[in-house]
Amino acid sequence: MASRESKPPYVVRPPTAVLTRGFDPRLSVGSARPAVFRSSTYVFSSPEAAERAFSLALGRAQLREGESVDLIYSRLSHPNAEILEDQIVPLEREARSAAVFNSGMAAISTIFLTFCPPGSQFVYSTPVYGGTQHLIHRVLEPLGIRGIGVPAQDTAALAEAIRSTPRLSLVFLETPANPTLVMCDLAACVRAARERAEHPLLVVDNTFLGPVFQSPLQFGLDLVVYSATKFLAGHSDMLGGVVLGRDPEPITALRGSRAVLGNILQPDECWILDSRLPTVDLRMVRQSKNAQRVAEALAGHAQISRFCYPSLFRDPEQVRIRDAQCRHPGSVFSFELRGGKPAAFEFLRRLTIARNAVSLGGVESLACHPASTTHSELSAEELAASGVTPGFVRISIGVEHYRDLLDDFRAALDAIG
Ligand code: PLP
Repeated sequence: MASRESKPPYVVRPPTAVLTRGFDPRLSVGSARPAVFRSSTYVFSSPEAAERAFSLALGRAQLREGESVDLIYSRLSHPNAEILEDQIVPLEREARSAAVFNSGMAAISTIFLTFCPPGSQFVYSTPVYGGTQHLIHRVLEPLGIRGIGVPAQDTAALAEAIRSTPRLSLVFLETPANPTLVMCDLAACVRAARERAEHPLLVVDNTFLGPVFQSPLQFGLDLVVYSATKFLAGHSDMLGGVVLGRDPEPITALRGSRAVLGNILQPDECWILDSRLPTVDLRMVRQSKNAQRVAEALAGHAQISRFCYPSLFRDPEQVRIRDAQCRHPGSVFSFELRGGKPAAFEFLRRLTIARNAVSLGGVESLACHPASTTHSELSAEELAASGVTPGFVRISIGVEHYRDLLDDFRAALDAIG
């Protein structure tokens, strides 16, 4: 689909590129927006074209410059995935290739299953999203793929683990981490990986700040992965996952796994996500400004004992990492209530604007209690080590007026105890 697009005759900036590349209206009967192609299978132009398409899909041949290939079957790829994978690339600095999945977890699992052979080890920063932690303990470890968790903020320990872990296939970093917002030093991880003879694949879950506020590929990381369910889609109405890379090879490998795991993003969802790309920047900037105003006004409240938000970091090392890596603080913050779990539940019950729901990144504000929901898969030790205490709540700020949100949070806090 992409090979017949009409391109502007000069290099355009990302907000323009996201609207102009990757889609040829002539292939959608002149429609200004892509049509949805819901077919499960595609008619070949000839048996020879079918043979060639299979040879390319199975890696027996390489695509020639300017060659256009027949589509095969939608589990392998389909026009809406191709359009989306082309249009999303300009949003991620230094990305050249993308693969879309039917959820963030589908993207993350496919990365591990593709690049971590049984018997290999990987290093990961802690904490990570509860689903990822569950994948590590319940799926990867029984397959003989061992994860070594290192606290995200401990740069020296992370670098040492990357330098010295035997049979290291991959490094998985989540920064800022869900739900504590703790950050890890991307450049230090890249330096440590380069000291090894065999360079492990460096992957960042960039869901919290990317693609607008943090660009890990610029620091030398290999892949970024997103729960597109969050900021990329931005309206809490679909699930999706995206992996972007500087080099096309790992993305091609992921597409190969995706074809057999059967977890490509479906045409309707691709079409929805595609229509949300031009507003990612607008939404994220507005949400981050809102969140910063709310967080900085709430942080001193008497009921709050600890506040986690990038613009409020106190630890000099975390401040240094934030300033080196992030352009804005983003729209997720967490805090700990002095009254523990009863206070956290009371606070959530009393909110009238932010809804008590998991997930984040949508245009509407959401609030949840990680220890009993999103991170309930972590062991008691893992929760304690990560600072996910019983009184901890996580909030994702939307595009509402920040004064209304502030009034609502203050009223709920004032009413506790
Ligand atoms: N990564 C992070 C940081 C998340 O917060 C989530 C979900 O909350 C995921 C990955 C998983 O994404 P999905 O729910 O789209 O599978």
